[in-house]
Amino acid sequence: MIEPRPSEIDTSGVPLVGTLGRCETEVAAALYIEVCKRRGDRWQPIRPREVGETLKEMTNEEPPPDIVLSLRIVMPDFFALTKCGAVTMDGEHGPVCATPLLFERLRRYTVMVCSKDRPMPKDAPDEPMWVCRDRAPVVVDGAVTGEQCSHCGRGWESEG
Ligand SMILES: [Zn+2]
Repeated sequence: MIEPRPSEIDTSGVPLVGTLGRCETEVAAALYIEVCKRRGDRWQPIRPREVGETLKEMTNEEPPPDIVLSLRIVMPDFFALTKCGAVTMDGEHGPVCATPLLFERLRRYTVMVCSKDRPMPKDAPDEPMWVCRDRAPVVVDGAVTGEQCSHCGRGWESEG
């Protein structure tokens, strides 16, 4: 399975609702994703201090991201997030790291963008999981017959 980037998971609104059982767990996942997003948009171990710094940064933004609002009413439960296998943790307050289970559970909130450095694989589940944004027109005998993705080669015929 190809991992989505943190920025490809939608954590807006009530974050990740219906994916991990309890909202405390889902808010913890959203917070972890948010920290990874803001630290180079890659999956990485994070420590409580980094969560704290990111929270401070988000709280000062105008308007604050949706997750800040969720955190006013829901206490993120990182322990439950670890217990369900969505992330791994070293010791009670150690680093957190995403697992394939997390990506699987968050599929409905994930849109992976086909790109030059990571084209959509041939056997990938199609939209909405993946989307090709760089589409070029296909011209046959001077007429546009459809579009083709510049990265994965997937094609679409013109309608009508
Ligand atoms: Zn593509």
